[in-house]
Order: sequence, then structure tokens, then C-alpha cells
Amino acid sequence: MIGVPGAGVAMHALIAELYPICRSITGAGLRQTLARIAREIPLVVHEVPSGTRVFDWTVPREWTIRDAWVRDAAGRRVIDFQRHNLHVVNYSVPVRARMTLAELRPHLHTLPDQPDAIPYRTSYYKESWGFCLAHRQLEQMPEGEYEVCIDADLHDGHLSYGECLVPGSGPDEVLISCHACHPSLCDDNLSGIAVAVFAARALAQARPRHSFRFVFLPGTIGAITWLSRNEDRVGSIRHGLVLTCLGDRGGFTYKRSRRGNAPVDAAVEHVLRHTGTAHRTLDFSPYGYDERQYNSPGFNLPVGCLMRSEHGRFPQYHTSLDDLDFVAPRSLEESLAVLLAVFQVLEHNRTFRNLNPKCEPQLGRRGLYSGLGGTDIRQQELAMLWVLNLSDGDHDLLSIAQRADLPFAVVAEAARRLAAHDLLAPA
Ligand code: ZN
Repeated sequence: MIGVPGAGVAMHALIAELYPICRSITGAGLRQTLARIAREIPLVVHEVPSGTRVFDWTVPREWTIRDAWVRDAAGRRVIDFQRHNLHVVNYSVPVRARMTLAELRPHLHTLPDQPDAIPYRTSYYKESWGFCLAHRQLEQMPEGEYEVCIDADLHDGHLSYGECLVPGSGPDEVLISCHACHPSLCDDNLSGIAVAVFAARALAQARPRHSFRFVFLPGTIGAITWLSRNEDRVGSIRHGLVLTCLGDRGGFTYKRSRRGNAPVDAAVEHVLRHTGTAHRTLDFSPYGYDERQYNSPGFNLPVGCLMRSEHGRFPQYHTSLDDLDFVAPRSLEESLAVLLAVFQVLEHNRTFRNLNPKCEPQLGRRGLYSGLGGTDIRQQELAMLWVLNLSDGDHDLLSIAQRADLPFAVVAEAARRLAAHDLLAPA
């Protein structure tokens, strides 16, 4: 597999820089995140005004959070946004009040089953406010009066998203999408952002055939906004992936596109099988991340979702436990390598036609056997025979690799060698 040595540590460092920023679906934290990404890769930031209609939705107001706390009778900040971004319900409306614990309680969110974790809660599409805290801490809060402050406002502004295009030599595009709206959560979204940034950097040096379009946007509303503004462009998207949860220590999870048999589905499954790492594959469901929007029936784009641990299925998910320790440089580096290997397959997957289809050509006479080297000569011979046999114009190299149960790179190299001896031509 193609690795980028040292990238795991560098990706983890980028995550550590982005971790303290309080992001939301709009506002300063999201903008600051995009500005940081723009220092790594060429990023065009788009600003879409609040109130803009995007299909059935409306671009929301901008959320600005300055401070938030709950003070006890002695004036101590018992819940303090300055200590953790997750303490305030994201997108809370402002509040300033005194109330009893009983009155405050409906606004406090905890996880009784995970008493030390602060949950992540949002109130994007209904006006409310609240705080999140460890259940153990709530249990220790005495009855009495509390002073509550959320110094925030919601005002007409913009929704921001960033786009990085690595131009290709041909007209086809690959879409890579990451949500960038979660505050202080590492695996769920910062890992996807970091892997995407480093993949974009690696591709920029490779002069690819496809154009690779990386989008960093707020979940759901950002993807809907992007699609509504790029409807005329989506026809050139041949493959796509949503990236998230790529830094934890679990095996890989791949969620197929709605089509289920798109080339990107075959490419990811092929790479995961041949890397030998633990993985599982899920069929598409209209639940999860922004693949829901890309795979909506009016678009039906071939976009899958690449994860390690599946969102919602691990205890750290959407809690303060999804922190810098939960994501590992090694996992990030392996995720990047898998992604780049998938790109390699998409880049080199072609369909050929056997120019000598009546019986096998004499490979020995052409020096095609003696030119082989390395430890897997038998595999290389087999690959040539499979490529010759299945290159009838209907099978691309990836389907040949699957049928032959050989690594794609070996099959692609066999095709290159056969084409160089005029035994194959592009179909
Ligand atoms: Zn999430």
C-alpha cells in the first residue's frame, strides 16, 4: 500500500490544533476551521447568506457563542463552557436567568450510563438552550438557586463551506466530503478532515486523471447547500466518499452507495480485502452522514462512506470521550493509506480489449514470462492470463482483479505490460 510516512503524527497534530475550536453549522468556529485547512491545501471558502432557500431547507442564521456558565449560590462556575465546548448545547439561544435546580434540570443533559462523559447535543432546528455535563457532576449539584448565562446570539449572516479542487487531466470527478461542524470531537469529524487534507496534498503531486473535489462543510445543511448550488456540476461525479471516524483503533467499516455496485463500492471493498485489515461492509441506509443527501433519489450519486468504527456504535461517539487520546496516529496513517489505495484503483481502472483473442498468445516468445521478477511471479503470470481472458471489452481491470482474486495493482501492471507488447488496447 502507498503510505505517507510520518503523516499519522502530522494528522494527529492538525487534529490537536482544531480540537479546541467551538464549531457549529455556522459561525466563527467553522470559519476558523476552514481558515486552518486553507493553510494546508488551496481552499476556496464560500459564504451563503442566511435565509437562502436550498431545496426544502433554508440556510440558518449564524451562531456566535462568547461564553456560557452555570454558577452556584457561592458564585462558582459549576458548569463552564470555557472548560469544554461540549458543556453548552450547540446552537443554544441566549439566556440569562436565576432558577432552582428543579427548573434548570430540564435543560441539563447527561449520560447516566456513562457517568464521566459529557454528551454532545445540538438544537439546530428548534429554538432552545441547554447545558451538557457528566452525570456524576449533576449528582453532586446541591438543590438551591443557580445563575445561568449563555452569552450567544443568532443573527443573519452566512453559512460557510470550503472546497479544494485537485484538477485532473480528464473530465471525470471524484467527490470527497467531510462534515466540519462538530466541536471538540476528534474521531467524528476531525479525523475525516485530517485524512482528507493529507489525501488532497498527496494527490496534488500525482497529476491525477480524475479531478478530486474535497468539500468541508457543516453536516446535512452544508451538503444540501452544496448540492443546490452545484446541481449543474454533479453529472461529472463518477465516484464519491464521505469520510468520518477514521482515527479510532477499530477495524474499517464501509457503507456502500445507494446503488450498491458502483465502482467506488467495488474499489473500497477490494482494497480493504487485500490490505488484510479487519473490516466489514454495510449496505446503504438513509441514515448516517451526508451520503444521505448525495444518495437522495434526485441525485443518486455513487457516494459511499468510509469509517473505521461505525458512527453511533461505539461508547465514545458524540461524547467528550471522543478526544485526542481516542484517535491514534497509526490509525490515521492506515486510513490515509487505504484512501490513497482506493484512489489508485479508481485512477487506473480501465477496460481493455484483447487484440489476440483467438486462443492464448505465446507469452514466452514475447519475453513476457522472463521479464517477471519479485516474489510473486506466479501471481504475475496468472494476472496476465486473467487480463487476456477477460479483456473482451465488458470487464474493467477491477472486475478482473475481483474475479481472479488478485490485488488490483498486480492486474493493472499485467495490463500495462500486455499493452506495451500490443496484446491489449483500450476498449
Ligand atoms: Zn456526528
